[in-house]
Amino acid sequence: MNTSKRTYIKDAFSKKTNSEVELFGWVHDVRDLSKIRFLILRDISGRIQTISIKGDSVPEVFELVGKIPRESVVRLKGELKDSKQAPGGKEVIIKDLEVIAVAEHPLPIDVSDHSKTELPKRLDYRFLDLHRERTQAIFKVQSTIVQAYRDFMIKEGAFECLFPSIIGASSEGGTNLFKMKYFEKEAYLSQSCQLYKQMLACSMEKVFAVFPVWRAEKHNTVRHLNEARQFDFEMAFADDKIVMDVLGRCVQYIVHAIVQNHKKELEMFEIELKVPHIKYLTFEEVKEMMKKYKIHIGKDDLSPESEKKLGELFPDTIVFVHDWPLSGKPFYIMPSEKKDKNGEQLSNGFDAIYKGMEISSGGQRIHIPDLLIERLKIKKLNPKDFKDYIDSFRYGAPFHSGWGLGVERLTMLIMGLNNIREAVLFPRDRDRLTP
Ligand code: ATP
Ligand code: MG
Repeated sequence: MNTSKRTYIKDAFSKKTNSEVELFGWVHDVRDLSKIRFLILRDISGRIQTISIKGDSVPEVFELVGKIPRESVVRLKGELKDSKQAPGGKEVIIKDLEVIAVAEHPLPIDVSDHSKTELPKRLDYRFLDLHRERTQAIFKVQSTIVQAYRDFMIKEGAFECLFPSIIGASSEGGTNLFKMKYFEKEAYLSQSCQLYKQMLACSMEKVFAVFPVWRAEKHNTVRHLNEARQFDFEMAFADDKIVMDVLGRCVQYIVHAIVQNHKKELEMFEIELKVPHIKYLTFEEVKEMMKKYKIHIGKDDLSPESEKKLGELFPDTIVFVHDWPLSGKPFYIMPSEKKDKNGEQLSNGFDAIYKGMEISSGGQRIHIPDLLIERLKIKKLNPKDFKDYIDSFRYGAPFHSGWGLGVERLTMLIMGLNNIREAVLFPRDRDRLTP
């Protein structure tokens, strides 16, 4: 089928009245007023009202408009007219209509604008749910998030790196790994590119990745997935303060790009998005703050309630919580020289909280082999499993720092979604492996 003369719907609105247009798209809605039939046509760029009038139009076209099931795919030729009643001030008088693909009916889920179909059912039919402009809006924004991240990193002088996803040993310790058979051996799906990005920063200096991670966590929450994607960053000759600054500017850059490019999508979700401020607090300061509100915060980790409170206290702000207790951070985080007032050993690790939730963890890493071995043992991990990683710091390894930022988590928070599954095209959670 020749589509060379296709006009995207968005562009039709700026064409001259009476001009001929050839449109391709989905039948969004049909309204039958006996003598006039309206067909609302939709493509990825927008919607337009098209009409067929009994007597004035080709009889077959008038008949066909009344019969096409919603969400069917059509090719439509017609004449553009000004119309006060039509949304956008223009409509198309249909001259020729061809059905390319009929949608079976009834549709298994409601894909209208005010659909009441619940999320699990929508996810069962995600391919059809993606016909909705509201669903598309989330992934249009997510595309910009990824693009803006790459843009920002390239401007920072970082190199995009491609890391392996099949690994021989756990990268962070813990039991939340998916095991797999790898010929005669056992292997795992990567839970993070942590070790690789560190090894790379020790030669390429500034590196970044968009990396899928798999975590066999059994919990079923609205903010965790078993397959997620992360923005990873690692930088040599940098301490935690330097990479917190990079992270803050990175999120500001991403949000700015969304504000610039997605007015329509933000309006659809009734979101007033502002480029965030930056705030720095020590873990101890947050602890004190939460006491005032009688909010429990763990000995060495923030509770979800305390993250929520930080979001309320500091709206439109990325809150960096640094000088984090060492015991609450993974083995590779650099211990600091500081202790808190109870003598608790602190670290150069941090978390970033935005809109009431953790979006990122990071910090300075240990680049000294003996210290790394000591920390591994304390965390009850076997240094033998980390031989290559430890050895990589034996031949001239600079101090370095970095972070990982959850892509779906960030999308969810920016779009004000209640469930992270809304922010993944095809979510993988405890119960869901299809579609
Ligand atoms: P949380 O405390 O929220 O469970 P985490 O500390 O286990 O997260 P990190 O290993 O620090 O997570 O990962 C870095 C970022 O990746 C997190 O800040 C979050 O934005 C995102 N992330 C982590 N785990 C998941 C998950 N299971 N699903 C979706 N995003 C995740
Ligand atoms: Mg974390």
